[in-house]
Amino acid sequence: MSAFSDARTIPSGTVLDTDLAIIGGGPAGITLALSLAGKPIRVLMLESGGTSFDDKTQALYDGTQTGVPYTPLNATRQRYLGGGTNHWGGWCRPLDASDFEQRSWVPYSGWPFKKTALDPYYPRAQALVEAGPFDYEAKSQQWVDQYGAPLTLGAGGVYNSWFQFSKMRGSELPTNFGERYAADLKQISNLTALLHANVTNIALTPDAKSVDHLDVATLTGGKFTVKAKHIVLATGGMENVRLLLASNGVMKQGVGNGNDLVGRFFMDNPVPRNTAKLVVFAGPIAPYYPSNQRGDGAIFRAALAVTDDYKRAAHVMDSLTTVENRIELDDFGKAVVATTASALGIDGGDAAAYELGCGMELKPDPDRRLTLISARDALGMPRLNLHMTIGDEDFALYRQTIKELGRQLLAAQTGLIHLDRCSRESWLETMDWGNHHVGTTRMHNDPKQGVVDADLKVHGIGNLFVAGSSTFPTCGASNPTMNLVALALRLADHIKGLFP
Ligand SMILES: Cc1cc2nc3c(=O)[nH]c(=O)nc-3n(C[C@H](O)[C@H](O)[C@H](O)COP(=O)(O)OP(=O)(O)OC[C@H]3O[C@@H](n4cnc5c(N)ncnc54)[C@H](O)[C@@H]3O)c2cc1C
Repeated sequence: MSAFSDARTIPSGTVLDTDLAIIGGGPAGITLALSLAGKPIRVLMLESGGTSFDDKTQALYDGTQTGVPYTPLNATRQRYLGGGTNHWGGWCRPLDASDFEQRSWVPYSGWPFKKTALDPYYPRAQALVEAGPFDYEAKSQQWVDQYGAPLTLGAGGVYNSWFQFSKMRGSELPTNFGERYAADLKQISNLTALLHANVTNIALTPDAKSVDHLDVATLTGGKFTVKAKHIVLATGGMENVRLLLASNGVMKQGVGNGNDLVGRFFMDNPVPRNTAKLVVFAGPIAPYYPSNQRGDGAIFRAALAVTDDYKRAAHVMDSLTTVENRIELDDFGKAVVATTASALGIDGGDAAAYELGCGMELKPDPDRRLTLISARDALGMPRLNLHMTIGDEDFALYRQTIKELGRQLLAAQTGLIHLDRCSRESWLETMDWGNHHVGTTRMHNDPKQGVVDADLKVHGIGNLFVAGSSTFPTCGASNPTMNLVALALRLADHIKGLFP
């Protein structure tokens, strides 16, 4: 086989044998394949799609929804090589140290390792997503020198922080892993990438202690089998669930689902728009707040982050507040600004106002979950339903953070905040989602509390691993992809150790 093959040409009944099968060719799967290049491991990557969008393949992602409105299940992901990076926004930022901690005020929180376990992998992850030098806080001074001072904030829980953006070489768009790394994948002599290959079943041995084989189907009716020493499931935070639950030939409740955890704890970052207005007394704010800027080889944008100390003290969730478009205040707003500035003894004549947006962290909720439904896709697999929830407390905790930001702005005589959204209905009116699929195969060392262990191995199954943000026990506020790429690099190191 050449490095890229078409599963539709494989005769039905064929049994393929390999050392490692990677199911899924999104950023997680591609990162693994790239990292294992040249190692004494025969790697087979099974990708459902081809190298471009196809309606029939994408329709395999159709599903239903209940609860709070969410992006349709076939629009919140892309089913071809590159996966979600075929339509991602490229926002990157490492998770905070406190995101990994067991937080007494966040039920089910706590990763089985600290952020320091991922730190060595971030620079390589940053290089793979092509987000420029791994600068974030460290080099921000250069951006400040180039574009002007950040907001002066009084002491408190909110601080100026940074996003960096993925940008594919030779393109203005974020790095699309399929397009960007196709040529590199084809060069890897120990890799076969099988396109149009849909894994439909993870068949366990009768004792349910390991995976015996994978059943694979094509949309042209082909059916064959893959036998692998080890398997990594990397089909995204929703499809990982579908495949585990639907593979119920030996474990009736689904593979790895002995404790009814697979599919529960779904999380995403709610992105409520126009949550509040920010007024800056001294006039327009530095351009890196409302829009992306370039400097020092990076594309970056400022955000207002929450300090780890404030999260611990005030028991708020993580959030990243962004400054959006500049707006004109109405007469009432102008009067409020004028009287506040005058009370502070400063000039508010040049004041500029902006809408604020945000990426919030949700509290883990076992009832926010993916389950199988009776409807089936073209390959006979049961489809998914997503039951989406968001608690009043999630909004209340974020409001507390915005109030803290307002307090710090007033304390520094920099500006003020007007909170626009005060009821749940009002928040939901402008609710958008990050399309980050987190938590559904959560990581925990205790099999009663997690689907995978700290090495991302499914509890109780000797040769099955899961990659991607479905393994994150909590989601933080930073976008997941660079973080899941870092975690995939860590998994690749573990896998290398399995083939001495
Ligand atoms: C509109 C949008 C904007 C986003 N913006 C950002 C952003 O700015 N920053 C950020 O960090 N993240 C962003 N994301 C999220 C990002 O796309 C995901 O975090 C990322 O793609 C997940 O990577 P993955 O490899 O785990 O899964 P996926 O990217 O979903 O890849 C899974 C792969 O598995 C394949 N597959 C599925 N089922 C099977 C099967 N049964 N057999 C074989 N193959 C299968 C799929 O075809 C796909 O290629 C965004 C997502 C969306 C939808």
